[in-house]
Amino acid sequence: MIWNDTTKELAKKLNTDFVTGLTEEAAAQLLIETGPNQLPTTKKKPIWKIVLAHFIEPFVLVLIALAIIATVIGQWQEAVVVFLIVIVDATLATCQEVKAVASLDSLKKLVSSQAVVIRNGNKYDIDAKDLVIGDLVYLDAGMFVPADLRVIQSYNLRTNESLLTGESTLVNKTAEALTEKKLSIGERTNLAFMSTTVATGSGLGLVYATAKNSEIGKITTLLQEEKEPKSPLTQQMSFLIRIISIFALLLGLAMFLLQFLLIKVPVASALIFGIALTIAVIPEGLQVIVTVSLSLGSSRMAKKHAIVKHLPAVETLGQVDIICSDKTGTLTQNKMTVKKYYLTKSVNDSNAFKKQTKQEQLFLDCLVLCNNSSVSTNKTVGDPTEVALMNWSETLNFSTKKLITKYPRIYEIPFDSNRKLMSTIHEYDKEKYVFVKGAVDNMINMCSHALINNERVGLTAQIKQQIVARMDEMSNSALRVLGASYRIINNKQDYSNVSEIENNLIFLGLVGMIDPPRNEVKASLVKTKKAGIDTIMITGDHLNTAVAIGQELGLIENKTQALSGNAIDDFSEKSFNANVNQYRVFARVSPEHKVKIVKALQSHKKVVSMTGDGVNDAPSLKAADIGVAMGITGTDVAKESAQIVLTDDNFATIVDAIEEGRNIYSKIKRIVMFILITNMAQVFAIVVGAIFGWNELLQPIQILWINLIVESVIAIPMSMGPNNPGLMLEKPTNRNDRILTGSWGFIGIVSIILSALLLLVFHYLPSILHEDVNEGFIYVFVIMANAPVFYAFSFVSGANTSIINKITWKNKYIWIAAISAFAINTFIIFTPFVSDAFGIGQGFCAVDWLICIVLSTIPMWLLEMYKGIRFLFKKWFKKDVAVKENNVKTKFKKK
Ligand code: ATP
Repeated sequence: MIWNDTTKELAKKLNTDFVTGLTEEAAAQLLIETGPNQLPTTKKKPIWKIVLAHFIEPFVLVLIALAIIATVIGQWQEAVVVFLIVIVDATLATCQEVKAVASLDSLKKLVSSQAVVIRNGNKYDIDAKDLVIGDLVYLDAGMFVPADLRVIQSYNLRTNESLLTGESTLVNKTAEALTEKKLSIGERTNLAFMSTTVATGSGLGLVYATAKNSEIGKITTLLQEEKEPKSPLTQQMSFLIRIISIFALLLGLAMFLLQFLLIKVPVASALIFGIALTIAVIPEGLQVIVTVSLSLGSSRMAKKHAIVKHLPAVETLGQVDIICSDKTGTLTQNKMTVKKYYLTKSVNDSNAFKKQTKQEQLFLDCLVLCNNSSVSTNKTVGDPTEVALMNWSETLNFSTKKLITKYPRIYEIPFDSNRKLMSTIHEYDKEKYVFVKGAVDNMINMCSHALINNERVGLTAQIKQQIVARMDEMSNSALRVLGASYRIINNKQDYSNVSEIENNLIFLGLVGMIDPPRNEVKASLVKTKKAGIDTIMITGDHLNTAVAIGQELGLIENKTQALSGNAIDDFSEKSFNANVNQYRVFARVSPEHKVKIVKALQSHKKVVSMTGDGVNDAPSLKAADIGVAMGITGTDVAKESAQIVLTDDNFATIVDAIEEGRNIYSKIKRIVMFILITNMAQVFAIVVGAIFGWNELLQPIQILWINLIVESVIAIPMSMGPNNPGLMLEKPTNRNDRILTGSWGFIGIVSIILSALLLLVFHYLPSILHEDVNEGFIYVFVIMANAPVFYAFSFVSGANTSIINKITWKNKYIWIAAISAFAINTFIIFTPFVSDAFGIGQGFCAVDWLICIVLSTIPMWLLEMYKGIRFLFKKWFKKDVAVKENNVKTKFKKK
């Protein structure tokens, strides 16, 4: 059995080397032979199932039923248009769903798992699917185990195997061969299994099974894809469509009875009229529009480096009130360079370093040996903090490779963000040396001595003070400061006892490295401020470093706005919640503090986004309304827990994603308003017309045609085209608001104005133009078919932007749709036979048409006027508020 073999035996069996791994050539050959290390995923939903799913939507069934009734009663023209609506809708919905699924699939591939492999003795980051049997794989906390592995080195390596065994207690992994022949999966403690996660420690493993031959591959023939949850917006839309559909059916029935019983219209005509009205009121296009908008938005976000794992996150993004961001790598470049160091007396420039005294030698050796990164001329792998230390040694001409070979590592206590320290144990000058590097404030309390030049001295209060003062000096100039220390241990020491090992240390020195802020961050912070979004920096780094960077970025003005993790612990939960808004920087935080911060901010009813990268960040990413994981430096566990993954780890990307989220929400809202206004205007006009006895205000086929043009041709392109930058000048929307909260009044008034226009046209225009009162419905139809083509532009440009704007000019899709709709409308009006079907007689001439087109633009002009008045009012009101505030301030000053 694989677990009975020693490392040597296994390496021989697998044709590999347990130190240098496979050669590149052997790995490439094996990959061709065995295929990729991928688990089979769920079969794609066939197109017919997607189409069928659309046809069994309740409102589509209603449409089909109505179309059948129309056919049965011989109203074939109307039946054709209703079937056309159903087919166009089904085609659009199917195309969009297929596209949305494909784009979501390709987005998921972008966050596929990586593995760190050792081939030819060098470390590489590769795609986990390229692993082959015999590969030597590095494991670290937070990673997914990328294949089934025989562990050959374990430094406190523990995995979570609940996925396979259902058992949530962590399993200690050993590198020793096991003697038992029969063992259950949970008992095979020297094996690590594909898709389980590394909870703590680090280690090495040899791949012995991949893909479907792995344990997980054997039990799941098909990997269950997570079902995409319905977004709150989709749910709201379903609800809205359902309510409106019921209302539409009742209204249709009422109109049918009114016509048939009271006005004595023939039964077939009355029935078809009721049917047409019902269809006109049902906003069947809304569902497709929401899906299209969300999936288009998520593709756009992916292009800007933000991968949205679940569509509902797109909506929540638009509502974010607070961005909690990591410092290192997100606000800063994560390109660390050692600038200063301190051993004795003063802080020196990094290039002045010499390796002469014992202190100097051990100091640099500690920084290189207690380090997991690898640097070579063509490839650098590892944590930027560690890479900076390796690079420093190389630039000083001290070979890191030689040192690592000379003093082999026996054990490692990996870095974790709670201790903020890392330790390694080495064979060093025939003894066992522990080297420790990490956060100075934690390390100093574990030191009992200091090495000064060649002499070991007791760590007096005075020396301690010196060290802290030098650390402050470096961190005040925004440097990340790490301490280095060591001790010699005896052979019997238990390595795994962390507090024993990291104790009685001998302090060696400090190293300070610069990590400059990202250039684009300042502009993004200005943008967030204008958008009413607060930004909070949360970092594991020292308070001084965090304050210096915070000030440089303009996040805070002084140190009183910054709080350290220890100080958070001093607060009670209640008082922390009450005071949290005073702070913009939190430093030296642990992952537990992050959860406290999220909860405190949420207690003020804020929508909080939180970034994370570490294995322990999963709880805070889940607690936040939007968890954002780092794609480059983030662990697999963090990426799994987040809703959004940044492929460039950049703060500016979060801001771009929020802007996109706001735009998507706003576009959907405007389209919903556009459709409802168009539908309601017709209903108002028809109902009021019926009260006046004007039954022929709009004919059934005309109503259906308008519905087709508006919902199937114009509405969808409205969700495309450029974003409105003005949305980032507004406050975030309230998360508890429904999409149309506060808009019903506007929808009602515009619908009434539009219906009034139709009624006036119906009543007066024929007599003005031809004195033929019976032609009113033709004018009403021509206006109602064309008016939405014009006022769609008012909705595309947004509530605060006039129609003459690049948002409208640059949306080529809406232009194509509008011109097409206009052309088809004109075609049906002037083409013989076709125009007959729409009840348009020969008497309707070009001049009439021109007058109708001019009248069709009225709603658009009215909407633009409204925007202008609103703009002036806001400007005037703001000025008024500013003047009032000024007066208060002057009064205050005078006092
Ligand atoms: P953030 O990304 O949240 O801004 P960070 O990267 O600054 O945080 P951590 O990685 O938790 O936070 O680092 C916190 C502290 O731990 C650092 O200030 C440093 O002193 C120490 N540290 C960081 N990386 C290492 C490492 N590889 N080895 C030892 N100590 C480290």
